[in-house]
Amino acid sequence: MRSLNRVEVSRSALIHNFGICRQWADGAAIMPLVKADGYGHGMIDCARVFAEQGAAAFGVAEAIEGVRLRAAGITQPILVLAGVIPQTLPTMVEADLTPVVVDAAIVPELSRLAGLQRREIGVHVKLDAGMGRQGVLPEDFVDLVRTVRGAPHLRLDGVMAHFPCSDEPQSANSAQVLRTFTATTASLAALTGGGCCLHLANSGGLFYVAGARLDMVRPGIALYGYYPDGETGRAAAAPPLLRPAMRFATRIIQVRRVPAGSGLGYSHLFTTSRPSTIAVLPVGYDDGYLRKLSNRAQVLIHGRRVPTVGRISMNLTLVDVTGIDGVQVGDEAVLLGRQGEETITADEIAAWMETISYEVLCLFGKLNDREMID
Ligand SMILES: *Cc1c(COP(=O)(O)O)cnc(C)c1O
Repeated sequence: MRSLNRVEVSRSALIHNFGICRQWADGAAIMPLVKADGYGHGMIDCARVFAEQGAAAFGVAEAIEGVRLRAAGITQPILVLAGVIPQTLPTMVEADLTPVVVDAAIVPELSRLAGLQRREIGVHVKLDAGMGRQGVLPEDFVDLVRTVRGAPHLRLDGVMAHFPCSDEPQSANSAQVLRTFTATTASLAALTGGGCCLHLANSGGLFYVAGARLDMVRPGIALYGYYPDGETGRAAAAPPLLRPAMRFATRIIQVRRVPAGSGLGYSHLFTTSRPSTIAVLPVGYDDGYLRKLSNRAQVLIHGRRVPTVGRISMNLTLVDVTGIDGVQVGDEAVLLGRQGEETITADEIAAWMETISYEVLCLFGKLNDREMID
């Protein structure tokens, strides 16, 4: 028995999007970001698809995600972007994960553990080239590289930084970050004799920042079918366009006819102005269909857009289907994705929720039963 609320993830869309990223990467290696359970699409399933398509490495937030990928048979390098601290090091060494080192303090202990296991561990170093979040400042970069290179059981495999504003194609910031990254890493070849993988570009860097591809690119949102700058990016992009991979649908559980002047749901946030037909859906904020969507979202029923009316509750949502013929209990209602000729995108829902597609995908994907299709 399965929930009436179902998230479908299209394998062919993931493959299509990987292909578009590969075109843009223009020979650079591709490291898909599969953190946050693959942005809600299923970390392991997505990683398997991308591995088959030629992913060179994977990016996760925490070590535990890397452990799960290893258990699922993923053999590519797995970079752990967050939480390389003493408590996680033994697991990281054991599961052969690649720590992203953000300062020199961790280096001796990491090297010691690698030595105990008679292993050499490859690490990547994170430079703060303008993101202002993690990593070492440019003035501390050479010291960190020397510390890693001086550690007996560590090997410096890569250097990375992150763009803060690459979702704004017009922003001059990205070119500045790229210049800082390039200038700071210029001495690497002399220090290391080459062989160090430089990577900087997220989806925005890949699509919008000339020269940012370097040795490897790190797309996340693009692989799942969305542009980092939302509908603006989609409208400006040249075909072939990215294809959204996620669809979220439910079923109507009651159809009610109510008179004009009826207050609907908590706080009577909506009052009917005419005799109305209201369909009840078994979806709510528990499923990631947030309260913010009260009175302002649309869903697809019989291929037509209908508005949500009244408060979204924990597990119930009302939609106004007045004037649509033959709406019945059991009919499909699509909250995200296509039905007939109509489509509701995560960008649209994000606008109603005052957020970005990333958050919508994480919420829907992680809070609902999910299956991979085609
Ligand atoms: C999440 C993440 C990415 C991917 O960003 P998108 O905007 O989803 O392409 C790339 N690099 C790092 C370090 C990240 O944390």
